[in-house]
Amino acid sequence: MQKFVYGIDVGGTNLKFGLFEFNKMHLIDQIEIKTPMTNHEVSIFESIFNTIKLVNERNSISIDQIHGIGLAVPCPVKNGFVKLCPNLSWREMDILASMRRYFSKEIQIVVSNDANVAAFGENMVLEKPFMNAIFYTLGTGVGGGVIIDGKILEGGTGLGGEIGHMHMFDDESTDQCGCGSKGCLEQVCGTSAVLSYAKKLSITSSTSLNINNLSIKNIFDEAKAGDDVAIKVVNRIADYIAKSASILAVILDPEVFIIGGGVSKAGQYLIDLIQNHYKKYARFTTGNIPFILARTGNNAGIIGAAYIAKQKN
Ligand SMILES: [Zn+2]
Repeated sequence: MQKFVYGIDVGGTNLKFGLFEFNKMHLIDQIEIKTPMTNHEVSIFESIFNTIKLVNERNSISIDQIHGIGLAVPCPVKNGFVKLCPNLSWREMDILASMRRYFSKEIQIVVSNDANVAAFGENMVLEKPFMNAIFYTLGTGVGGGVIIDGKILEGGTGLGGEIGHMHMFDDESTDQCGCGSKGCLEQVCGTSAVLSYAKKLSITSSTSLNINNLSIKNIFDEAKAGDDVAIKVVNRIADYIAKSASILAVILDPEVFIIGGGVSKAGQYLIDLIQNHYKKYARFTTGNIPFILARTGNNAGIIGAAYIAKQKN
């Protein structure tokens, strides 16, 4: 009997579903629905059940062909338990128990934090996945995930992999971070921090940056074209990513750093910049660790979630 897995990205705005064929992990079908706005403790699981039923039907798949369901959630999670998830108005939620109201024990159910799930998926889609990998997602926020011995590092309370909140920048003049601190990596490398730094530099230096309609893409395009301000901005991002990576490297000794998120659309140019700065900070054998680009893009959540479900027996 042919088997399948579901990967579900549970977000505050949308629930994204991917149906994957078990062996080759080909994406068979996908669907996106609005996250229910009320009664989250029940309604989200009801929506998941109904959507899986619908997708099964339109692909002529029976429920006993489902090996597992993986869920990526936007908050720390430990052993399927969420203490607090502001995006979904969850508090003290046992996600596994909630799913079991709808799905029998024959179906594996696995849940993990969305950035950790993305890290797992990004590693698994490589031709030869690594046993130890660190994933950065560079976007509005800076997130990440750590894979050690082939497993997601959840940590003691599910907070493992929150690399965006390493204190990297000793400057009281930064705004307060979402975590309540100041000087987090996210406050140097998150997109709004990058844009405001570029604007600040542009006041005193001449630049070809489009200051009235500034974007990350514009900054990288102008850096590639040789604009001094843009070059300074992208080097600052790369420098801080590299510095943080060198700290993680001497603790966790990964085999690879995978760089994803919207900012990584800058491509190999960004990777080369980071790798160059990294040489300054790396110690011992960690100097040889490569940086590579993430591949799954917008589907990182569903792909990673499907892989954590596939892995579970
Ligand atoms: Zn922070």
